[in-house]
Amino acid sequence: MRLLVGKYVDTKTERGASVITVGGNVITQVEALTSSLSPQADDEDYRDCLLVPGFVDIHVHGGAGRYVMEGTENATLAIGRHLATHGVTGWLSTTVTASWEAQRAALVAAHRLIESNETGKDGARLLGSHLEGPFINPIKKGAQPEEFIRLPDWNELQNCVGNTLLTLKIVTLAPEMPGALKLISELAKRNIIVSLGHTNATYAEVEVAISRGARHVTHCGNAMSPMTTREPGVMGAAFGRSELTAELIWDNHHVHPTVCEALIRAKGTRGVILISDGVPGVGMPDGYTFTLGTVHCKVENGTVRLPDKTLAGSLLTLDRAFANAVPFSLSQRVQLTSGNALTALGLSNQIGQIRPGFRADFAILAPNGSVRATYVEGNCVYRNEE
Ligand SMILES: [Zn+2]
Repeated sequence: MRLLVGKYVDTKTERGASVITVGGNVITQVEALTSSLSPQADDEDYRDCLLVPGFVDIHVHGGAGRYVMEGTENATLAIGRHLATHGVTGWLSTTVTASWEAQRAALVAAHRLIESNETGKDGARLLGSHLEGPFINPIKKGAQPEEFIRLPDWNELQNCVGNTLLTLKIVTLAPEMPGALKLISELAKRNIIVSLGHTNATYAEVEVAISRGARHVTHCGNAMSPMTTREPGVMGAAFGRSELTAELIWDNHHVHPTVCEALIRAKGTRGVILISDGVPGVGMPDGYTFTLGTVHCKVENGTVRLPDKTLAGSLLTLDRAFANAVPFSLSQRVQLTSGNALTALGLSNQIGQIRPGFRADFAILAPNGSVRATYVEGNCVYRNEE
């Protein structure tokens, strides 16, 4: 199969009209589209479009009315199909603080789908799970239901996750809570990314967490101790410490765009991962209501709000985040929307470049930025014919 594109961009290259040939699930050839190359009947023609590596979203709770915490394979697959309509080709199924039973159901659903290779056929491929909570600080709970927040406990976590530990990629926790340091060490030892989030930690507490192996911060600028001149807090640590990669919701609601830009300039474009933090209300009309665990949420003017108007997850999708990151070049935006996530997950040697040998995971963007088509391992999993 060949794709004719007006332009393609990855983290290293930006090229004009090109022909990308796919064999099986990988790219086999990339060449310039010249007049001597005669189009073939089965070529896929995107000569008015931009091709980029498919987006990778490491923080997704749901979308299109479906929710990771339904804890079923059916719901997880439906979210993957929804994500593909926004150019996402890889994602982490992300839990919210809930009973161990409910969290386990979500982890098991994701684990089974990955083990049986059931995702990526008609939607985004599931790359693992992200456990957001329950080991967080109630003071910074945001939309996480307080009644299920637990003190960090490695044994308790092991009992819950069992063999799904193999597909658990990220744990968001508050490092200042008693027991957190042991948990951080145990997770880091197993190459599970420890991400600091829903935390009121001091800078000194973050420093200790980094020394134990913490490597990310969750939705930077939201649900964390703020930065002041004498006490950097978690926010200042995110800005200043290169050991930490920062998740960022660039929807122009959660973090002011000037702060988004400043964070990326401070950390470099390799230090930030754009995420959606998408909830079941993504893609649903204004007034749509749903619950996050026991917390009631409503879609209101492009945001999701609790009854007290606290922001509760986002309606962002990564195609919008890619468009919102206007101060940065196309290559840098690719870095922010797929490259850094793939590096964090240890997949950047197989996925994320438009070069022979790399997986044929693409988002095809129309001139207005909307997603024209999405390919996972060479299969078209979404096409917008309009
Ligand atoms: Zn979240």
